[in-house]
Amino acid sequence: MKVLIADDDKVLRMLMERQLEGWGFDVMTAQDGEEAFEILTTEAEPPRMLVLDWEMPNLDGIELCRKIRALESNDPPYIVLVTAHSDQEHLATALQAGANDYISKPTKPVELRARLGVGLRTLELQNRLNIANEMLAYKAEHDELTGLQNRASLIEHLDNEIERTKRTGEPLALAICDIDFFKRVNDTYGHPVGDRVLKEFADRMKETFRPYDLVSRYGGEEFVVCCTALESEPKAIFERFREVIESTPFLESDLSLGVTVSVGIATFDGISTMTTKEVMLELISDSDKALYAAKHSGRNQVVMFDPIPHSDSNKSEEALTDGQIC
Ligand code: GH3
Ligand code: MG
Ligand code: MG
Ligand code: MG
Repeated sequence: MKVLIADDDKVLRMLMERQLEGWGFDVMTAQDGEEAFEILTTEAEPPRMLVLDWEMPNLDGIELCRKIRALESNDPPYIVLVTAHSDQEHLATALQAGANDYISKPTKPVELRARLGVGLRTLELQNRLNIANEMLAYKAEHDELTGLQNRASLIEHLDNEIERTKRTGEPLALAICDIDFFKRVNDTYGHPVGDRVLKEFADRMKETFRPYDLVSRYGGEEFVVCCTALESEPKAIFERFREVIESTPFLESDLSLGVTVSVGIATFDGISTMTTKEVMLELISDSDKALYAAKHSGRNQVVMFDPIPHSDSNKSEEALTDGQIC
């Protein structure tokens, strides 16, 4: 464990450095608060255990504590303040400034070691909490089976993408990709095989689309992809993906299943008076209509929803609400 000792008294600093090294710490030293702050803000892996003298030139221990606590961090250091002042007023000031603990000068090795031990336990707990939080955050955003983003995460990110397209005019395509006759896979080979197909399908999606495309499991055997900064026509992009699914059998190591996918696509060019939420709902609804058309005209195909301009008064009411499928 890295520890930083900040003390303007060279003799005390070296004495403590030797003690702490003897206890197995990896010690860094600073001769005043400014140098300590510099170390904490520039080191790639800054020390997380700090032993700070109160009285130091340039920046004293109290001000240093305040500055450290003002930094945003999921990994705040454990701070032990060392001082000759041992009255309760000073103790309160130190704790209020952000110190975790307080030790009087001259420090007794047995006490210092015990207090650093408390710090180590606290940092270990904090570590475990951070790991648990990261796992929870990951689970909240990802589908457990495929590792893709889940629906909630898609909706959140889609918001940003639509906003961006509204700002930049960079076109956006949203596609629902639905595995054809997937129920038959489950019915014929069982649910675990169905799960393996879903996983492989997701893996092929990860390989096919670009890292910055949003690829998500929308639910069951339905997946949603949102691509911005389109490199080619949306239909061509998803036609390529359809071929990736059809051309190579799934689960080749044992079963070798032929799988196909139907895709419905809707696009957005950024020009709209609708709110971002409304655009999102319309994109999902339109791509679903296109998917429905793909299913009904034989499956294993890609269909674009063709938006009808809302200002086109020659079109019938029905056409205006349903749009055209091509
Ligand atoms: P279509 O071509 O019209 O899309 O037909 P389909 O059989 O793919 O569609 P349907 O909606 O009838 O069936 C979807 C099936 O997906 C039913 C459901 O049991 C299965 N399913 C949903 N989630 C999972 C999952 O996590 N694992 C497995 N193995 N199956 C799932
Ligand atoms: Mg001092
Ligand atoms: Mg299906
Ligand atoms: Mg479905």
